[in-house]
Amino acid sequence: MSHDRIRRFLGEHQPRTPCLVIDTSVVAARVRELIAGFPHPRLRYAVKANPEPAVLRAVLAAGGGFDVASPGEIDTCLAQGAAPETLSYGNTIKKPADIAYAFSRGVREFTTDAESDIEHLAELAPGASVTVRMLVDAPASATPFGRKFGCDPAEAAPLLRRAASLGLDAAGVAFHPGSQQADPSAWDNGIAAAAKVFAEVDGLRRLNIGGGFGITYRSPVPTPQAYASAIRACLRAHFPHTPEIVLEPGRAVVAEAGLIRTEVVLVANRDGHRWVYLDIGRYNGLAETENEAIPYRFEPCEGPRGPVVIAGPTCDGDDVLYQRTPYELPLALRAGDRLDILDTGAYTASYSSVSFNGIEPLETYCID
Ligand SMILES: *Cc1c(COP(=O)(O)O)cnc(C)c1O
Repeated sequence: MSHDRIRRFLGEHQPRTPCLVIDTSVVAARVRELIAGFPHPRLRYAVKANPEPAVLRAVLAAGGGFDVASPGEIDTCLAQGAAPETLSYGNTIKKPADIAYAFSRGVREFTTDAESDIEHLAELAPGASVTVRMLVDAPASATPFGRKFGCDPAEAAPLLRRAASLGLDAAGVAFHPGSQQADPSAWDNGIAAAAKVFAEVDGLRRLNIGGGFGITYRSPVPTPQAYASAIRACLRAHFPHTPEIVLEPGRAVVAEAGLIRTEVVLVANRDGHRWVYLDIGRYNGLAETENEAIPYRFEPCEGPRGPVVIAGPTCDGDDVLYQRTPYELPLALRAGDRLDILDTGAYTASYSSVSFNGIEPLETYCID
């Protein structure tokens, strides 16, 4: 349905390829669906997934706020009319100057996972609310965070007490089960660990269950409703009273709203394999094909088809999208033909390099 609207726009305007078109009505619908899945949640859209102003305005209009990670993202959200109370600074890696800037713009909610950051917050964002991010085991997701973020769950209570002793508002705990997490039971460990911290520290009220909700690329994932009902069941199992829930989705809000149109630059046979080179690759929008983590769907895909290796346009040997993941494209495909890459609204334009090989960042158009 939304693909038809986007294709109509592409047909009428014939923009240069590659380009991304976002249907912002889908963004708003996803925000409403995710909010409807939980009792009075705060939804804080992870801006890094797609910071396009029209996307942010759609999130805002649907009742969402923003998970920001830098002064630049704060400015972008405020410029779209977001109230500072709807912003939460979710990045645990921040300079003192970034904290001071956020506080000066009215941001009063921060996520943290280390004592040094808590000391900076106490000094530069006095009285602000802090949520401590924990690292909890989860089944592998398509693009996991590894061990980069989050304290050991056993350290969460001492960090929250430390924050309170420095005059901060120790609000609660956070975790993220990994991005494109296809298994709703992945939230169970984090919710169980959070319940223990709530039992240890008086006055906690907020539980941030991250983003991570998957969308259907080539293999189906649960619906937003199914994620929500599995997570609500975990909450009932571990918490005597449901805490205030914060959701931080990125991908599930914007991925399905977007479609990339690309042009075939070259088709060549190499060593018995058919290589299809596109005008979009790893460095101008498809960064999540690193390790072939996200297998996008391509259209059209009718008629006689055969196996292909799919590669990007740059002079970099790593700019190959799929060579292990089996893909088939029409045998009739020639240079100059167009292809659509579906569900590409998240983690595409925002990851696009400035001018690698002189190629411009991915152009985005928004329709509503
Ligand atoms: C990226 C990020 C998210 C969004 O994750 P998705 O998997 O896109 O939903 C949420 N919270 C934090 C802290 C993040 O860094």
